[in-house]
Amino acid sequence: MNTEIIIPDKITENDLYKELKKYCDRDDLEMARLAYDFAANAHKMQFRQSGEPYIKHPLSTAYILSLLKIDINIVIASLLHDVPEDTDVTLEEIEQNFGKDIANMIQGITKLGALKYRGVERYIENLRKMFIAMAEDIRVMIIKFADRIHNLNTLASMPANKKYRIALESLEIYAPIANRLGIGEFKGQLEDLSFPHVFPEDYKRVRDISDSFMSVEKGYLDKTMQFLKKQIRATGIKIIDIHGRKKRLFSLYLKLKQRNWDTEQIYDIVAVRILVSSVSDCYAVLGIIHNLWRPLKGRIKDYISQPKPNGYKSLHTTVFCDEGHIVEFQIRTMEMHEAAEFGIAAHWHYHENKKPVKINQKNVAWAQELAKIQKDVLNNLSDLDVLKIDFFQNRIFVFTPQGDVIDLPENATPVDFAYQIHTEIGNKCNSAIVNDNIVSLDTPLKSGDVVEITVDKNRKGPSRDWLSFIKTNTARQHIKHYLNAQKKNWLSSVWPMPRKK
Ligand code: MN
Repeated sequence: MNTEIIIPDKITENDLYKELKKYCDRDDLEMARLAYDFAANAHKMQFRQSGEPYIKHPLSTAYILSLLKIDINIVIASLLHDVPEDTDVTLEEIEQNFGKDIANMIQGITKLGALKYRGVERYIENLRKMFIAMAEDIRVMIIKFADRIHNLNTLASMPANKKYRIALESLEIYAPIANRLGIGEFKGQLEDLSFPHVFPEDYKRVRDISDSFMSVEKGYLDKTMQFLKKQIRATGIKIIDIHGRKKRLFSLYLKLKQRNWDTEQIYDIVAVRILVSSVSDCYAVLGIIHNLWRPLKGRIKDYISQPKPNGYKSLHTTVFCDEGHIVEFQIRTMEMHEAAEFGIAAHWHYHENKKPVKINQKNVAWAQELAKIQKDVLNNLSDLDVLKIDFFQNRIFVFTPQGDVIDLPENATPVDFAYQIHTEIGNKCNSAIVNDNIVSLDTPLKSGDVVEITVDKNRKGPSRDWLSFIKTNTARQHIKHYLNAQKKNWLSSVWPMPRKK
């Protein structure tokens, strides 16, 4: 039931095909084979730091996505994701062979480029690129997460300073974004794979705490689950699954630090998770548990009526069980469980072999979320120059009617937007339509707005008044340039330069 990402040691293309067969039809599988052969051929004679043939990396990336039953086009793009950057094969050739959609995703990944930690400015620039890539096509990020998870899996062969840099970047950037997108599985993997490289001593300490807790409590938990199962079934409620879940080490670490390493104060090192078929069953099971055991004060959390900001839904309660044991229970439906594991990726996840309903890439609500995500991620960054972050934090993402993303400073106006598209559109812009409403040219734009500019071909040029409200240097330069040229024209008309004879 739990999707655990384990990459086989000596992975081959057959491992991937085996997973794909579980949810793809024959045509999809055939396409995946072609993509693998294409990539293997392009990367032939290339090797990774570990000495392995390079193709093992895109293959493992695709394999991770196949474990999550992710849409075949994303899997195919992941097989090809390093081809344009690292080989002689071009993006055009990929498009000819695999179509525009896949080529576009790969272009997105290539644009992101190799993210390298080269001082704050470069780091922030990379973040910015990442957000733009996300706004353009969130599937690119899904591939990037899988790519990073495989790289973290193979860190052992890297030099020590690289190891640390990659792991730190994963903890500070990738994991918070995965969290904000609600992809619990990726967030957990990114954190737990990075943890030992960033905080090696703490890692050992947390692992020992978790292991020893497990060895003491396992027997009791098994017994409790068996007992509870019978109690629930007796009421006629159907249990889809009941299992013990171990808290991920990095999130246990954060909690331990909050509680001064007092394990007595942490009740969810292991929790019992119960999956049922409906929301009313969730509440019914909560009632059954509270009827059997007394709940701890303040530990009943109803994330169904009040979901977490990233959309997480579940009921949590901690109770005094028998023999002095304290146990946390988490109750949810299958849909809530999948949403918690896959988050936004659920839109491309095959549920019971049914093709996913794809969301619109230019989803406006999504782009609005983006601004919040940026803030979350940036608030979590440590050791970075806050001043330099500021310039990045106050950015908004606005769409053209065609869905292109334009990145602007906060409170930018339709005039800034127009100049960002083209100087002539700026110079001749006459009115603006934002989300289907006509607005004045000085209206501050918000992330996610779809902006359309109407130009007046007869318009001579920009108005001086615009200088009072525009926010970008691009717009300012163009307007001033135009006005200066006007002044020169006017001067030369009243005070003509002597003509050469
Ligand atoms: Mn890669």
